This record gives sequence, structure tokens and C-alpha cells, in this order.
Amino acid sequence: MKTIFEPFRIKSVEPIRVTTRDERVRLIREANFNPFTLHSDDVMIDLLTDSGTGAMSAAQWAAVMKGDESYAGSPSFFRFEAAVQNLTNFKHIIPTHQGRAAEAILFSMMGGPGRRIPNNTHFDTTRGNIEASGAEGADLVIDEGLDPQSLHPFKGNMDLDKLRSYLDEHGDAVPCVMVTITNNAGGGQPVSLKNIHATGALAREYGKPFIIDGCRFAENAWFIKQREAGQGDRSITEIVRDCFSVADGMTMSAKKDAFGNIGGWLALNDNDMAETARGHLIRTEGFPTYGGLSGRDLEALAQGLVEIVDEDYLRYRIRTNSYIVEKLDAIGIPVVKPAGGHAVFVDARAWLPHIDPLLYPGQAVSVALFELGGIRAVEIGTVMFGRQPNGSEMPAAMDLVRLAFPRRTYTQSHADYIIEVFEELAAIKNSLKGYRITWEQKLMRHFTCKFEPLS
Ligand SMILES: *Cc1c(COP(=O)(O)O)cnc(C)c1O
Repeated sequence: MKTIFEPFRIKSVEPIRVTTRDERVRLIREANFNPFTLHSDDVMIDLLTDSGTGAMSAAQWAAVMKGDESYAGSPSFFRFEAAVQNLTNFKHIIPTHQGRAAEAILFSMMGGPGRRIPNNTHFDTTRGNIEASGAEGADLVIDEGLDPQSLHPFKGNMDLDKLRSYLDEHGDAVPCVMVTITNNAGGGQPVSLKNIHATGALAREYGKPFIIDGCRFAENAWFIKQREAGQGDRSITEIVRDCFSVADGMTMSAKKDAFGNIGGWLALNDNDMAETARGHLIRTEGFPTYGGLSGRDLEALAQGLVEIVDEDYLRYRIRTNSYIVEKLDAIGIPVVKPAGGHAVFVDARAWLPHIDPLLYPGQAVSVALFELGGIRAVEIGTVMFGRQPNGSEMPAAMDLVRLAFPRRTYTQSHADYIIEVFEELAAIKNSLKGYRITWEQKLMRHFTCKFEPLS
């Protein structure tokens, strides 16, 4: 079927305020041309992120009422722990308020000056936490993963040759090997089960813990089921368990594939490391049976983890992206293909060759999407990754614009509207201008920096 079949009915709705183009031109100017600065009730279709923005189910809201807010030993924690272990089988589950808090705890142990941490592609908060500790991150994704037009089925795969050379070269400086599923910063592209196993085996060969950034483990498993030989008949749960079976731990943002509005966890098998991590948790997040979360959050996540592996949901989820990618491709807009798991990525550098990467073509597209259609998207390119630790500026590997879909929130009509806005944008794209940053922070500047359009 071509139609996106939403496998849910709507029980509760949130109104969307319909704005005019003149209003939006004023609003984005007032926001210093940074969509992160907009007020969300001024946005019509909010595709800034799929993080924490999804709709909870009736069963999740019901579970919220069961939340036990005891400081220590809450049954809500044990339900949460059991739900995580059911899918991942890790020994120690350490709840945090979101994924980056799990990263901060992990790199308080594994980071530090002189350390080097490889990944297929580090997500921005992961890289931020690594660099804040004084360590360095390396992105070793396969070359196909950097080619927006390559149709490789698993463009998130780790380049095993590059990883081996990296381990040979940096030896003791490498505290762990990471892989991110799906590869968010590289276009939401999946990693094959075979590659996850091979990366784990290589890490073991060099005596390094293997840590999975598992934010979108269910979407990744759906791609494995669809695309990888011999996996089509297995359940999503079986594939998920297989992925985590070769890892020593994981970081997780429960705002992604746990249907949470907030939450995360760090999972570890090693007892000593888990004890150190819990010490840090108590200092920065909270007692080990709630971490950074309330009992009701833990209940909602436990139920979310049951729902996230549902195949009808995953089919709808992934179909939304492929539907939009097919239509944008048909009207000649360069998009990352094949469609990723949680988002559609437009290749702004290829689409706007008249704007130099150092003048942020992705920013130009995201501002124009808001002005034309009230759509909020995010630049994933030179704004996000171009600032070097020494303060200089280099073009990022790609200049993409990400349209990330909140889970279970928008419908096919919204998808068709987005396509219509892109058709309008295509007609005026040669008139778009680049941007200049007028103010920025040193780390993760894209969240707060201010822009000025070039005349
Ligand atoms: C969202 C995300 C994180 C960080 O999680 P937060 O909950 O936003 O702190 C880390 N890695 C990846 C791949 C992510 O998508």
C-alpha cells in the first residue's frame, strides 16, 4: 500500500495555530533566524526533533497513574528495569533524565584528556560530552554513509577497516568502541546486525568495551528485518535482543524509541563500572531507583517499550519518511536515500550550490521552510559541526536539513502539506541567501546561536 496507514485513532487532540506568511517572516527574524529560538505555538508542523515529542498511548497515560513516587525501591523502577532488560538483557540499568545525562556519566569514567572514542557517527550531545571531558571523538562510518545518493541498505555501518586501523594506531587511548543505531547524525541510517556483531567482535579482540548508543533500536531492527538476509522471519524483539547481546552496555534517550516525553538510561554489564556510575548518578541525577525520573515517567517508559516493537507502528513510522522522500525525489529535490528511520534529510549543499558551505545552505533551507509553511526543521551540517575545538571553522561532511517526525503525532495530510511547501520552495530556491553567525557558544552552538542573513 502507498497510503500511510496510521495504526491508531485519535482520542485527544492539540490544536495547531495557523499563521500567515507575514507573521512567520516577522517571527523568524525575532528569533535571530534560529528555529530553536521560536516559540513552539508559532510553529505549524514541528519537525525540529523526534525527541520527547511523540504522543503517548492511552495505556501509557493509564500507567502514569500507577507511578509510585517512593524515593527508594519504587515498584515503578522495577517495572522499568524489567522492561529494559526484557529487550536488552543488560545487568545494570541506571535511569537518567535523558540520554545526554547517561553520556555524561559514561564519559566521566571513559573520557578525559588523551582519550579517543570511535563511533559510526557521534551524535552532537555525545561528541559534546566527549569533548567536554577533554577526549576526542572519531566518526568511522562507511564511505557510503557520507554519500547522500548511495543506496547502500545499511549506510550507518561502521567501517571495520577504519576501526581496526584506529585501534592499531591509538591502542591504549581508546577506552571503548561505540556504535549508534540508527545513525542519527549520518541521516538516520541503519546499522546491519552483521555489522553490529562484527564491531562488537573487533572491540572484544582489542579488549575494549562495546557500547551501543541505542536511541532508535526498534527502528534499526525494523530495517534489519526488511533488508538483511535471513532476518525477515524474526520478530522485532528477537532482532533487538540479538543486537544488544554483543554489547557491554548502552546509552539511551528514552525520548526516542521508548515513547517517552523525557527519560534515558545507561546500561552496563560490568559491576565495578556500574558502581562508579551509580555514585555519579547519586551526585548528579538522583537515587539509583529513580535517577533523573519520577515514578510515573518510569511507568510510561516501561509501557512504551512494549509498544515500540509493534510492527504495525514501525511500518507506519518508516513509511511516513519513505513517502515524503519518494515525492521530494520525484520533484528533483536532493534527499538522503534510502529514507532514514526517524527523519527525512534534504541535501541542502547539493540543492543550493550557489551558497558556500561556510554560509550555511542548510540554515537557508530551514528558515525558508518556516517562512513559507510554518515548518520547523533543523540544520545538520556546518552550523552544527563546523566549529572546530580551536575556534576555527570548517565545512561539515554534509550540509543536511533534517525533518524529524514526532512519533504517532502527524498524519498523511500533514505529510502532503510538507511536500506542497517544498514544491513552493523549489520554485524560489535560487533566490535564497546564505547566513552569518553573529553570536555563538563554544560547544553545541547550534542550539542558541544567532544569525544574520547576507544581503
Ligand atoms: C537524542 C540522542 C542523544 C541524546 O539524548 P537526549 O535524550 O536528547 O539527551 C544521543 N544520541 C543519539 C543518537 C540521539 O539521537
